[in-house]
Amino acid sequence: MDRSKLYRRFRTLLIANRGEIACRVIRTARAMGLRTVAVYSDADRDAMHVALADEAVLLGPARARDSYLNVERLIEAARKTGAEAVHPGYGFLSENAEFARACFDAGLVFVGPTAGMMTAMGSKSGSKELMEKAGVPLVPGYHGDAQDNATLAKAAEKVGFPVLVKASAGGGGRGMRIVRSAAELEPAIVSAKREALAAFGDDRMLIEKYVDNPRHIEVQIIGDSHGNLLSLFERECTLQRRHQKVIEEAPSPTLNPAQRETVCAAARKAAGAVNYVGAGTIEFVSDGKDVFFIEMNTRLQVEHPVTELITGVDLVEWQLRVAFGEALPLKQDEIRLNGHAVEARVYAENPTKNFMPSVGKISTWRLPAETGGLRIDAGYREGDTVSPYYDAMLAKVIAWAPTRDVAIERLNRGLEETDVRGIVTNIPFLSSLMTHPKVRTNAIDTGFIERELAVLTAAAPAPGELELCAAVAAIVNEERQAALADASSPWQTFGWQPVGRRQRSFAFRVGHGPEQKITLNYGSGPSTLVIGERELAFTITAKDGGFDLTLDGVKSSVAAVIDGHELYLRTRNGRFDLHWVDPFGGESEEHVGEDKIAAPLPGTVVAVLAEEGAKLEKGAPILTLEVMKMEQTLRAPFAGVLKSIKCKIGDIVQEGVELAVVEPAGE
Ligand code: ADP
Ligand code: ADP
Ligand code: MG
Repeated sequence: MDRSKLYRRFRTLLIANRGEIACRVIRTARAMGLRTVAVYSDADRDAMHVALADEAVLLGPARARDSYLNVERLIEAARKTGAEAVHPGYGFLSENAEFARACFDAGLVFVGPTAGMMTAMGSKSGSKELMEKAGVPLVPGYHGDAQDNATLAKAAEKVGFPVLVKASAGGGGRGMRIVRSAAELEPAIVSAKREALAAFGDDRMLIEKYVDNPRHIEVQIIGDSHGNLLSLFERECTLQRRHQKVIEEAPSPTLNPAQRETVCAAARKAAGAVNYVGAGTIEFVSDGKDVFFIEMNTRLQVEHPVTELITGVDLVEWQLRVAFGEALPLKQDEIRLNGHAVEARVYAENPTKNFMPSVGKISTWRLPAETGGLRIDAGYREGDTVSPYYDAMLAKVIAWAPTRDVAIERLNRGLEETDVRGIVTNIPFLSSLMTHPKVRTNAIDTGFIERELAVLTAAAPAPGELELCAAVAAIVNEERQAALADASSPWQTFGWQPVGRRQRSFAFRVGHGPEQKITLNYGSGPSTLVIGERELAFTITAKDGGFDLTLDGVKSSVAAVIDGHELYLRTRNGRFDLHWVDPFGGESEEHVGEDKIAAPLPGTVVAVLAEEGAKLEKGAPILTLEVMKMEQTLRAPFAGVLKSIKCKIGDIVQEGVELAVVEPAGE
């Protein structure tokens, strides 16, 4: 086909995505002088990407199927706004060949490869067949058409256990199961197929040799419509949880220059096999010695910023220039590697509760400035709501430095200075990960996070003297700020100097822990804080997001958020959530939810795993819910008898709805 029909100059770009990546694309498109059109669902009316774009079109209801995945509505939105091109971002329709074709048929430029290339490379099975022919090394396995159990079982036997059962259409680590013996194979296939069908509408499976303790290494490539194809070095994305990347860096600290050239050459060969046009990523697993092709992603990747930071290339700009029909501006030997970059994905999820997604309003959203090698790609702002309908990634914190060690230090500092409240995030988990000595020395593999989970999700340290003092200081600081805003307050007129000494008692606790008491002495003379036998002089200097606390002559910075009786503090010792026990507040303990088998979030019941009347051990699986595209198994909170199941497969359940009743044993 004549490529000038596919790729040509345009002035208005529609971004068929949401969140962080929609914002990211809009930023570059605008810098290139393009007009931008956002699309959104009912749940995203007030979302950041809608606010950033020049125009925005409502697609439909919150469910992705009715909005971000609705091809007809997207094409209609382009027609309505005069958009001439579509950038698909990642996820959603970005690897959907029918969407690329629908864009072409509607006279729109699709910012990406042709539908034909996508079909060839998009399925894991198809691309492996192509790579085999091109002589790119593959993980041994089966990627044929026959899908009956007997064929798959025979293939697994032949490959040799452990094997990985993988959805050919898969992405984001979904539809994948490790199988260690023949007996585990069939149930694994059933459950992987179910997940794949729900997520991708396609349940074809392939079987691969499971490479033990591998590393994930991938190469960024980009091709233009004039036959030029470049590789932009590799990224290492070995820190994963459930086959989903958490931290990515570039270049890989594992490869030497010769290995780097080998893997980049293999990637160019892979993409060259289909004369690839657009940005793409060739993914490999490595056993520490060799690399094996696993898949190609025919789109921009979440972790593309680390490549941008080490090459100085704006990949979205290059994607758009390729879509204009231009030739790539540099030659292979002009692509230089400079320094090191590391990215951390910030998610709305609770690592201490099995990474359960967290939804709700972002009441506090404080990010460090993008200086000193730090870059932040965010899709949310303070006051935004995280809904249960889409991927829970909020932002990416990315750091660059001349060396890996310094890049990690900068990333840590960036994470440390990020305060998000209202929803639960994985930021403390990311900090523990980046400060782990084995991450520093690159002594990792893809199973690292799972093995170290207890360490990485360890409870925060107990509040010490500094934190108790900071808690009182936070309350005093807030009261003073409020008083300063109130003209009739004594602070306003007299500087609050009542005659004589006064005392005020405070008590704080963490979770259900013991109360810790502290007394404030104020009035004439310097204010002091008393904990047990210790009396400490202090002063507070208010600043943005908190205050400087000088305690016993040492000044340190405290970030603080007070929400009623809940205090969030960040001191030099870490993050602390304290409850202020109000002596007049009539504290009542609430113990709801813990013993109830209830839907933690809105979801769909996909499996019932125990029968009514069954005896259950503590932790026995009862049913599986699909919540935010991930399966979550609800388990018995204690040993007992399953008295009733209040739902059936296929039920769509709301948050908090009771799904089963377990009666404790011995009652
Ligand atoms: P891989 O598929 O190899 O994991 P990426 O790391 O680039 O590749 O992750 C892409 C994944 O990001 C998608 O499969 C999807 O689960 C998720 N995703 C899709 N859309 C969004 C979005 N708007 N914001 C955040 N994450 C998204
Ligand atoms: P997805 O489309 O979900 O990104 P991939 O095929 O890229 O699927 O695999 C995701 C992750 O699963 C990889 O990054 C790697 O950690 C792990 N993985 C994939 N294939 C294998 C394999 N054959 N052996 C071991 N781990 C693998
Ligand atoms: Mg992948």
